[in-house]
Amino acid sequence: MRSAWALAGIGIVGLIVWPIAGPVWALATVCLGLLLLLARHAANLAALADWLRDPLAKPVPQGGGAWEQVLVALYHFVRARIKQERQLADDLTRFRNAGLALPDGVVLLDAHDHIEWCNPIASEYLGLDEQRDPGQPLVNIVRHPDLAAYLEHGEYAEPLTLRLARGGGRVLSLAIIPYGEAQKLLLASDITLAEKVETMRRDFVANVSHELKSPLTVVAGFLETLTDSEVKLDEERRRGYLEMMREHTRRMQRLVEDLLTLSALESDRGPGDETLVDVPALLAGVREEALALSGGRHRVALSIEDPLALFANAQQLRSAFGNLVSNAVHYTPAGGDIRLSWRRRGAQAVFSVSDSGPGIEPRHIPRLTERFYRVDHSRSRETGGTGLGLAIVKHVLTRHQATLEIESEPGKGSSFSAVFPARRVKSAADAAPVAST
Ligand code: ADP
Repeated sequence: MRSAWALAGIGIVGLIVWPIAGPVWALATVCLGLLLLLARHAANLAALADWLRDPLAKPVPQGGGAWEQVLVALYHFVRARIKQERQLADDLTRFRNAGLALPDGVVLLDAHDHIEWCNPIASEYLGLDEQRDPGQPLVNIVRHPDLAAYLEHGEYAEPLTLRLARGGGRVLSLAIIPYGEAQKLLLASDITLAEKVETMRRDFVANVSHELKSPLTVVAGFLETLTDSEVKLDEERRRGYLEMMREHTRRMQRLVEDLLTLSALESDRGPGDETLVDVPALLAGVREEALALSGGRHRVALSIEDPLALFANAQQLRSAFGNLVSNAVHYTPAGGDIRLSWRRRGAQAVFSVSDSGPGIEPRHIPRLTERFYRVDHSRSRETGGTGLGLAIVKHVLTRHQATLEIESEPGKGSSFSAVFPARRVKSAADAAPVAST
């Protein structure tokens, strides 16, 4: 309307000028009016063109007449777009932050399995570069035939277990969740520890079954012979069989007892019932037991360099020390020496058992505390060993924040030392009442 009024105004001014100044001046006045109108439109157009170069950064230009309506409509449109974009940016930031906070690796894949985005954990697990790799096919970066086959097969009900050569043999579980049109969300979780625990559990069950199998077979065999009415046995033979059955039954009993001790140590996190233990008194008892076990075949010396007491679980301590000492008795040939000592090392306290036995090759030493690990299987069975003694010792010491040190050389004997932290060590004066069991 305004433009029509302006044109009408120019025409009227021209018609007024014509009778006064003649047709030339009237035409000149109309031309001038039209030129001014055109200049205003050109200026508005130039402002609009300038604004359109970066519409989100600059304010919408002002304009009058027909321009005002167009520019106001544009202004509302741009305001709505800016709001929408801010909302989108906020949503994206929230999504990214959630992705960053996830304890698992996340990779977004497009319809062609090209990487769209990944979080830092996915970069660490799969060796992706968050900046460089988006846009690349995932299988080009993670070169593993199982992954390529999994993506190609397109069946994602079961996760894929991926054993990687990198990252110290890390084991990943990859789950794919399809979403949107044909995109995929890949979730990568580190299951290295769970795999290790599962392997240990399987080995443990196999080991226990194996340990129980041979004594059970022996007992079952003798029982069959003894109950077979057709087999005539003299009294001496019968007694011999019964004695062997008793020996194998004891072996099974010892194994079950050690398993129960280990299981109790594992299921209960803290060291349990702790008191101030009079270690010298406890060690005197341990020495008596060693002498009884040795039956006079070894010399067993006890040296208390400092009568220190220890804040500990007396029963567990006795079990650990007893295991170390009975190993020394079992593995040291007759006539050998066994020395027990309790002493101070700086602010720490150390219990050591040294023997003049066969010693242990260095390659076995780091594995001795593994369950059922034996250097010499037949020797261990001969001595009635369950293969769990040092595993129990290690558990007890760990619960007391103590460490086990093993020094040994083939042919030169062995020395096992339990080193207790300063905060558990008390001077002898504090040690009343005696708490040795
Ligand atoms: P075991 O019941 O077989 O003795 P342990 O866990 O107590 O089981 O010990 C593990 C292995 O460590 C033993 O089988 C033995 O080979 C070795 N070992 C332990 N103590 C000694 C020792 N004092 N001298 C030599 N070898 C030892």
